[in-house]
Amino acid sequence: MTRMTPLLERNDQFARTYTPSALGGPARQLFIVTCLDHRVDPAIVFGLQLGDALVIRNAGGRVTQAVIDDIAYLAFLAEQLFGEQDAPDALFEVAVVHHTQCGTGLLADPSFRHQAAEATGLAEAALEASAVTDPYTTVKADVERLLTAPSLAPKVSVSGHVYDIATGRITTTLDAQYAQPTGRISPTNG
Ligand SMILES: [Zn+2]
Repeated sequence: MTRMTPLLERNDQFARTYTPSALGGPARQLFIVTCLDHRVDPAIVFGLQLGDALVIRNAGGRVTQAVIDDIAYLAFLAEQLFGEQDAPDALFEVAVVHHTQCGTGLLADPSFRHQAAEATGLAEAALEASAVTDPYTTVKADVERLLTAPSLAPKVSVSGHVYDIATGRITTTLDAQYAQPTGRISPTNG
């Protein structure tokens, strides 16, 4: 027995009309970083089709070192596989999407955070840093963290967005921009 059974039936329907595609870049040249919250599924809220976008989801949609490492590797892979024929100047845009009512916001409460640290063995400081209490603030911090990451490829741009659980609407808070070799941040041309 598995709770996957009804989903496997859906997969059977999916596979009946499925057409495989070769390894290549995401159709929309997008790499979405967002929360694992089941109310924030990017395929649903953005209407993504299969092959449209790369997606990383973690608690809060935070730009952790692990996320930065994955983006660095994917940029390398994209450059190697199809950088020249498809997009000489841009590989993909990373869209960081945080949301209101995030469960990580509970970690802002010191006693809740202390209990969480005891239960999980994680450091209280790390838990506090991962909390999304104001998504407009954290998305800005995470876009900046990514733009100043030494491993961010120059052909990767970064944008910031907030998803409002109450309305279902996404607001772009930071337009796509590239990191500068000097560490400064500048807007994209398009
Ligand atoms: Zn969340």
